[in-house]
Amino acid sequence: MNLVLMGLPGAGKGTQAEKIVDKYGIPHISTGDMFRAAIKDETELGLKAKSFMDKGELVPDEVTIGIVRERLSKDDCEKGFLLDGFPRTVPQADALENILAELNKKINFVINIDVDQDILMERLTGRRICKDCGATYHLVFNPPAKVDECDRCGGELYQRADDNEATVKTRLDVNIKQTKPLLDFYEAKGYLRNIDGQQDIDKVFTDLDRLLGGLHE
Ligand SMILES: [Zn+2]
Repeated sequence: MNLVLMGLPGAGKGTQAEKIVDKYGIPHISTGDMFRAAIKDETELGLKAKSFMDKGELVPDEVTIGIVRERLSKDDCEKGFLLDGFPRTVPQADALENILAELNKKINFVINIDVDQDILMERLTGRRICKDCGATYHLVFNPPAKVDECDRCGGELYQRADDNEATVKTRLDVNIKQTKPLLDFYEAKGYLRNIDGQQDIDKVFTDLDRLLGGLHE
């Protein structure tokens, strides 16, 4: 079961990744974890990646792709894998196709957890924090009794700068723009499956499970 997981910030990708890994026993391969492991093991590519990161530069595609190739060649990927955070661009997606062809594998599905932008805005901007005791609330998921007052201590609630509408909107816009060509690429290949991420968490997983249950590997 070879999967690529996609979804915008706030879509619930991390939660669903955990559930897929628990149920199907395939490794969750996120870009961050992959880099950290390669650097820790001091592989040639890991050290190369580190040299760019230490300078605050982007790791070039050839290094990233090399690290992905090494990771996907490991024994624990024999039953499959769940890629998360890679590919980010169409050239990377092309490179992934080549790596998988070399390894005699292919992608079964590219899963996109689909959530409308206004719902994502609501999810990503709803956090409120108490100035006095640090308690956290969410206007939708864990609302305080009064909109600007802490239930616990009566302190004033504030919104972190990272959570404000303009910042979140920019972050989403950048992500949408980056993701669109990739979704089109995988749609054209016939790999893309959109899962409705606006349902509750368990229902999202039920839909995913139904999709994945059809794979016999
Ligand atoms: Zn408080």
